[in-house]
Amino acid sequence: MYYGLIEAGGTKFVLGVASADGTILARHRLPTTSPEETLGQSISWLADQGYDLAAIGLASFGPLNLDRAHAEWGSTTRTTKPLWSGTDLVSPFARAFGCPVGLETDVNGAALAEATWGAGRGFGSLLYLTVGTGVGGGFVAGGRLLQGMTHPEMGHIPLPRHPHDTAFPGHCAFHGDCLEGLVAGPAVMARWAANLSDLGPDHEGADIVAWYLGAAIVTYQAILAPARIVLGGGVMATPGLIERIRDYARSRGGEYFAGNVDEIVTRPGLGNNSGLLGALAVALEAAGHSLECSSDTWRLMPIHSQIAGGG
Ligand code: ZN
Repeated sequence: MYYGLIEAGGTKFVLGVASADGTILARHRLPTTSPEETLGQSISWLADQGYDLAAIGLASFGPLNLDRAHAEWGSTTRTTKPLWSGTDLVSPFARAFGCPVGLETDVNGAALAEATWGAGRGFGSLLYLTVGTGVGGGFVAGGRLLQGMTHPEMGHIPLPRHPHDTAFPGHCAFHGDCLEGLVAGPAVMARWAANLSDLGPDHEGADIVAWYLGAAIVTYQAILAPARIVLGGGVMATPGLIERIRDYARSRGGEYFAGNVDEIVTRPGLGNNSGLLGALAVALEAAGHSLECSSDTWRLMPIHSQIAGGG
């Protein structure tokens, strides 16, 4: 059994084929241009690999329509990415390959992968938060993603303002100073004209971003109480940032923060592969497998050995 993997990002698509034992057999990267061109190139590449695909998993930027009862299921909704609003992501692959096609947000896919095989393996519940060009979160408990009317938008929560950061109006097109509008890459660039990692640890920006993320984590912890909170995304590559976030979460949450902050707030266990393995988790679900069962069912050692080898 082989699975087609698509990690659909706003600037690039990462494609892959994985076997039933979880080994990634091939991978490829494409720039994201127009829907017609990028989806067409993705179908061509997958077809050229020559595998009979049991299912395809799409882990995509959003927002997405994930309501199975809705005629627009499988499409993007009002995305800020030019040309991509209302794009049917699923049907072109279903038509081309005649197999089940699953769709989740990229952050939900990464949350599933981290919960199943990565930092959350064996812990029962996990929140994955990505802090990069945008901010998004996915929550998994018992192998299942949290979903209400649609997928959560955990990056768009309101926050108190840092006392030294009150003049900045925020960078979110919808809310101004929501979490994403305050700490995502473009919000950092708008205030300080540099990436956070280039500002240096002594710059006030590093402290302000950590302060906001510490407050957000206390909020997520109060509502969801995840056993693990995994922080990924480009902004999190800033040296010293995760330690500062833990300090703020600890001081702000106080004794109400259940468990040890240093153990709960952690880095991704799958490194840069959480996106593509997220697409694998989505493909396995589309093929009718439940991720709730013992992960040993998937004979996943090859995934880990491949990650260890830098694959
Ligand atoms: Zn927002």
